[in-house]
Amino acid sequence: MNRKAGKAAITHFRKILEEKGADIRTRMSSGSFAEIVHRRGEPSDEGDLSQQSHEEWLFVNRNQLEITVLKQVDSALRRIEHGTFGICQECEEPISAKRLEAVPWARYCIPCQERHNALTDASDIVFEEDDQ
Ligand SMILES: [Zn+2]
Repeated sequence: MNRKAGKAAITHFRKILEEKGADIRTRMSSGSFAEIVHRRGEPSDEGDLSQQSHEEWLFVNRNQLEITVLKQVDSALRRIEHGTFGICQECEEPISAKRLEAVPWARYCIPCQERHNALTDASDIVFEEDDQ
């Protein structure tokens, strides 16, 4: 068995990851994010400034999930470049194709991910988690 994901699979996941990244960036550069950026260009006194950063905080908070996913997407694309995509960063065993289909930016295999989840909140985002 080949330990690394095959070339066709890599191409497949790279496409998914690039589309996901572009999708998040498009959404982040439209709507409220663009408004905040626009407001930054306007003159404001200190009162406005604190209001502004509060809005930014709210925005970032709302988009934290997307930002987290975007970071993980980018790091998965880097792993594709380095030829380590699909390999668990903890135990260096291949991550199952089924898991990669569900979470293409997964860094860990399921047993390692579960161990991480037990230790810390800083885990991979999985689609099943919808309890914020
Ligand atoms: Zn592992």
